[in-house]
Amino acid sequence: MSFQGSCHCGAVKFSVDADLPTEAMSCNCSICRRKGTLMAFFPMAKFNLEQGQDSLQAYQFNKHRLSHWFCKTCGIHPFAGGIGPDGTEMRAINLRCVPDADLDALKVQQFDGASA
Ligand SMILES: [Zn+2]
Repeated sequence: MSFQGSCHCGAVKFSVDADLPTEAMSCNCSICRRKGTLMAFFPMAKFNLEQGQDSLQAYQFNKHRLSHWFCKTCGIHPFAGGIGPDGTEMRAINLRCVPDADLDALKVQQFDGASA
């Protein structure tokens, strides 16, 4: 199984080689609280950028451990990237950019990123 997502204008399209997640993470750090993202994490190997490389821009702050990718046209943040605790390159998918995701059915786990 795989699922697809996109930014709002459609310039950026991606797919993930995994079943649709049933759980998501909501974080209260300075950027997540502003973006309102519901995130699910996958290894980079399962992530495919179908189109839109040229439309993406990375926003980094603090220790620059994460790249918060957004579409230069519509401003939507479909995913972020970074290195996980075990050294694996990860993608944090914003499930709000996945049309097939039933947002109300997701079991949302709160992450206290503001204190991390
Ligand atoms: Zn866009």
